[in-house]
Amino acid sequence: MLRQLSRTHILISFAFLLLFLGAVYIYSGHDISSFRVCPPCEDNPKPEVTYVSQDVVINDCPVTDSWRIRDLKMQTGLKYAQPSTQKGRTDVNSVTNWNAPLVWEGTFDPVVIDAIYKKMDPRVAVVVFAVGKYTRFLKGFLESGEKYFLVDFRVTYYIFTDHKEEVPKIELGKGRKISVVSIPSATRWQDVVLGRMKWATITIDEQIRNESDYLFMMDIDSVFHNRFGAESLSQLSAVLHRGYYKDSRSRFPYERRPESKAYIPVDEGDYYYTAAVWGGYLEEMYKLVKYCYIQSEEDAKNNIEAAWQEESHLNKYLLYNKPTKVLSPEYLWSDYDRVPEDIKVVRISQLVKNYAEVRPNGGH
Ligand code: UDP
Ligand code: MN
Repeated sequence: MLRQLSRTHILISFAFLLLFLGAVYIYSGHDISSFRVCPPCEDNPKPEVTYVSQDVVINDCPVTDSWRIRDLKMQTGLKYAQPSTQKGRTDVNSVTNWNAPLVWEGTFDPVVIDAIYKKMDPRVAVVVFAVGKYTRFLKGFLESGEKYFLVDFRVTYYIFTDHKEEVPKIELGKGRKISVVSIPSATRWQDVVLGRMKWATITIDEQIRNESDYLFMMDIDSVFHNRFGAESLSQLSAVLHRGYYKDSRSRFPYERRPESKAYIPVDEGDYYYTAAVWGGYLEEMYKLVKYCYIQSEEDAKNNIEAAWQEESHLNKYLLYNKPTKVLSPEYLWSDYDRVPEDIKVVRISQLVKNYAEVRPNGGH
């Protein structure tokens, strides 16, 4: 009995030993002279070592996405005013009901927020269209942009135009570029405005995607008057339309015809957003721009054009896919309108223009 037991013991012990040796063999097979090294680079200061089942490989740096807002890092030693838990803007609401920031002057410290985003050092694309007579607006837009738009950040202005010889020579800051994209002329302003969605979709696919982390779509008939900084950056940022930010939702100029893809029922809606300034992560913006393009194509097939072209589709999308940041009308005011008390700073203002003169088919 005792001898039998110890024989069973020996067999069991032997089996365990075999299992153990097998495990050591498999583990060392992965380990010995088989790791991947990424050389240090700007975004990746420490070499990254991962285990693979081949020989040592020196990689190119992996595609990093360190520009994404994940953790809000700041350098040591930065001097700025202490933030308060008691004082802030009380005349306006600075948060949405889905808990996203609603950005007004006085709700952020420019020193802090620029320092945080500068650490991520994103590449920002600005897509503008200057078709027909709208090339006259390029100089004012670009010169003022250089003074106020994401100063010290990497910015490329993508200028879509049918008159590339009319793109002015502007002195640009370090890390800032202009890229001209030639597109055909149009006979209806509605076609230019909607065509932006198509041309932007195509050009993001072919070019911009490889060169940018964030993308802004902007009207060209505008001038920067004050800081437009990193507080505007987010996954998806939309600007409250100055004309409707105090109105009830039933008054918003949403598309109200159910036949259109942009239809929003009268008892729905958060805010009315402008299509003259919107931005976010490149891929988020790509999705949204392409959505506006496809939805407007669908409408065209059904012989309908949304009330405010791409702005109507944009508003529909943002109702059901909430923006992660809402920017106050400071981010797009208009020279047509008096500046009220709650707008402490006008950051961009649309110019007064002679619609009949400047548009190919005149009128509104
Ligand atoms: N646009 C253009 N050429 C035109 C009409 C429009 O380049 O003939 C572009 C330009 O970037 C302009 C934007 O489309 O800023 C929107 O049109 P517009 O500014 O006339 O619309 P509004 O802001 O007056 O509603
Ligand atoms: Mn405009």
